[in-house]
Amino acid sequence: MPDLAADMLQPEGGFPIRGMMMRYNLFAPRLYNWCKSLGFEAGKIMPSRAFCSDESQGYPIIMLAKHFGTFPFNHGRVGGIVATDRHGPHASHGQDLVIIQASHVGYDPQTRRFGTYRRLQTTDQECGSNCGKIHHVILWYQDEYQFCRENVLLHHLDGKPVIVIDNQLLREDRPEGLILRLNKLVELDANGLHRPVKMLSTAKVYTASAEFTAKVGKSLFTGKSAVPINDHLSADLFFFRRNISPVEEGSHHLEHNLIRFMHQIITNPNPTLIAAQINTQIEFDRTFRTIVKEHGYQGKRILFIAGLNIDISPQSGQLFPLTKFIPWAAYVQEQDGSHRTIEQEELLQTLTAQSTENPDQIDLEEAIQIMADATEVKIEL
Ligand SMILES: [Zn+2]
Repeated sequence: MPDLAADMLQPEGGFPIRGMMMRYNLFAPRLYNWCKSLGFEAGKIMPSRAFCSDESQGYPIIMLAKHFGTFPFNHGRVGGIVATDRHGPHASHGQDLVIIQASHVGYDPQTRRFGTYRRLQTTDQECGSNCGKIHHVILWYQDEYQFCRENVLLHHLDGKPVIVIDNQLLREDRPEGLILRLNKLVELDANGLHRPVKMLSTAKVYTASAEFTAKVGKSLFTGKSAVPINDHLSADLFFFRRNISPVEEGSHHLEHNLIRFMHQIITNPNPTLIAAQINTQIEFDRTFRTIVKEHGYQGKRILFIAGLNIDISPQSGQLFPLTKFIPWAAYVQEQDGSHRTIEQEELLQTLTAQSTENPDQIDLEEAIQIMADATEVKIEL
């Protein structure tokens, strides 16, 4: 059960995206040309993508197919989780190997909002959540947080600022739920314990800590009636506990990746954006270690790159999203086994330095026509 102390948490999840974005029509040829500059052989490269199952990821896959001249292998599970048990088959399908991992987030240019995406095939072309899997995973945490925002109240008692906390939020033996960091919120007694100054029927009243009072301002506590804590319940004041199946790459893998950061995610103005970034960071770190160990990849050239796909909702006359890729990190392995990781800034520079011209790219329409014109092959039974 993930139940992490503050000092185990990374202070900030996510990575810079400003100035880091690249449209897929530029990213795909640059990635291909980078591979060639590393000695990858044209016609012998098997790309693989670890994308969510969302159809919005189709356009990036088409661009990769066009520039690498073959349909990419599939390393992806819903939410942008890498299926590392597919390394073996991927390794045997090409001489030189590429894996592109990307979690994704929608963007609506009209409202300038992340996390939403226009679904052209719905009855009224309405907007829906994107990534839907991430949205679904964080919903439970958002509900818990909302309850807490409304049921932790600020008031005063005998001239002192106090915090009224619903009893449900004080049960420390709860297997699941939002757990308040009481040490930060309320004053401790001489023994270092948080003791209520008053008991109510469904809540307890505590003296507010000097730190919290100073942070939010004394005037918040002086009203005639108690006021909900609302936005003042910041990420440093709580964490989550939840029973999640620990199965690696199982249906709860994404939630497992995110739970330690959930207090940051749900208090962020763009929760699905930051969640997608955090998932990419965790999947890169986890996956490169599995590539290093994979027998099938030994003695092979490999380029593993992870980033974020931003799916810009299709505009009038467009079939596909105008997807942008934000690189996060890469792992490069030579045939002799030497390898290195490349951090975001160097990775962006490396990609940007590549030509966007790709003479090896294929004409997909022509390739489809060749298949349509080909002589029938009878399947012998
Ligand atoms: Zn998705």
